[in-house]
Amino acid sequence: MLGGKGLIWDIPAQGKELFLTFDDGPDPETTPVILDMLEQYDVKATFFCVGENVDKHPDIYQKILAAGHAVGNHGYNHLKGWETEPEKYVENVEKCNAVVNSSLFRPPYGKIKRSQRISLRNRYNIIMWTVLSRDYDARVDKNTCLEKTWKYTRPGAIIVFHDHRKAIEKLQWVLPAYLQRAVDRGYYFEVLGVDVKF
Ligand SMILES: [Zn+2]
Repeated sequence: MLGGKGLIWDIPAQGKELFLTFDDGPDPETTPVILDMLEQYDVKATFFCVGENVDKHPDIYQKILAAGHAVGNHGYNHLKGWETEPEKYVENVEKCNAVVNSSLFRPPYGKIKRSQRISLRNRYNIIMWTVLSRDYDARVDKNTCLEKTWKYTRPGAIIVFHDHRKAIEKLQWVLPAYLQRAVDRGYYFEVLGVDVKF
């Protein structure tokens, strides 16, 4: 649903659909592991890719696309919005768009200045989240990560995980457990529409 300020925090649910997202890849050590887990559950997700990682690992990026997942823009250099001049910020998003062609943009660190938002919102759906798994946070153990992520899961939720070194150890346990539980409770997974301007 389009929240205040033109940011998208969830999707109006038709049924029990969920929208899994993975930020910060593609990464040769973690993305393939996640792709394998998703394949086992026949689940499609949306990968918010960092442009420079796509340029470094084009083969991994192609694997994401070949598996039928959607991709979104996570900036070319994962810049901190609050430390970056609006022009430079928008330029960096456009630079990412040259390698990740998508109407979806997720601001790195989930923070974006008003001026940056206004510059981007006509071209991109700015995708935030309903549930932040905190999979990257060393202070959150795997059980807490699973239970907290599950607690806030509801139809139409956008859930954030990371294909990132900081998250992968936890995710190897959390992701299959989460997917199994979701499937058992009648949820199904869809990708965010990359061609749609909401
Ligand atoms: Zn990120």
